[in-house]
Amino acid sequence: MNAVVTGGTRGIGRGIAEELLKNGFSVLVTSRNENGFDEMKSLYGDRVCFYPCDVSDVKSIEALVSFAEEKFGSVDVLVNNAGVAPRERRDILEITPDDFDFLLDINLKGTFFVSQKFVPLLTKKEKSRIVNISSMSAYTASVNRGEYCISKAGISMTTKLFAARLAEYGVSVIEVRPGIIETDMTSGVKEKYEKLISEGITPIKRMGQPEDIGRCVLSVAQGNFDFCTGTVIDCDGGFNVRIL
Ligand code: NDP
Repeated sequence: MNAVVTGGTRGIGRGIAEELLKNGFSVLVTSRNENGFDEMKSLYGDRVCFYPCDVSDVKSIEALVSFAEEKFGSVDVLVNNAGVAPRERRDILEITPDDFDFLLDINLKGTFFVSQKFVPLLTKKEKSRIVNISSMSAYTASVNRGEYCISKAGISMTTKLFAARLAEYGVSVIEVRPGIIETDMTSGVKEKYEKLISEGITPIKRMGQPEDIGRCVLSVAQGNFDFCTGTVIDCDGGFNVRIL
């Protein structure tokens, strides 16, 4: 089975790629920089490969698809994980059109066009899966990073749209919503989040780890959710539970 994981060199993407690799998948990881890939190569050998791609650039996505076609011929699982936080957290009354475009181009437009461009390789299989990594920010308002929340809410609709469009071709599309996960992205706000967790913001009192998300995605990739499409999996320590 062949998988493509965007942003697979670090953090959650790497956690996903490693769970797939440990369970027999061949995995193409992609990101803008190759940093971190050498270590993956030494652990998993020829079953893992890297191709550089900036998901905000459609030409770069097309080059990735050509590489994947040459390497694998077809794709069983596409994981849209690449994403960024705001370069600087700013109130929604102060963000600029540049801040907005930067975030939306990578997180939302990237997810949309990577999905669209991989359809021909996914539909070569009788059954294939797309997993979109969104966030609890898809439904949680953080006014100091509104453009991030909007990008993740957009991924939720992208999931529904592709689920509706691709079911007839045997492609399931699932959204995985991580909660607070310990990665480079959250390193600058780790103390703040740890305090919130200790105060009870999540019923399960720990930060998530990349492998927590990796195991959810693995289960989808292995076909355990094949009668589900457009479905959301909250992998968030219970953040989604309203408590009275
Ligand atoms: P990291 O910053 O640790 O890793 C991000 C990965 O995405 C890197 O591999 C990075 O590589 C790649 N990436 C960034 N921009 C691009 C781009 N333009 N094109 C291709 N690849 C890119 O982040 P996380 O692992 O924490 O986050 C992964 C996903 O999970 C993101 O979509 C994020 O929004 C989401 N998420 C994270 C949460 C968390 O608490 N950490 C919570 C909820 C959701 P490079 O820089 O080399 O391109």
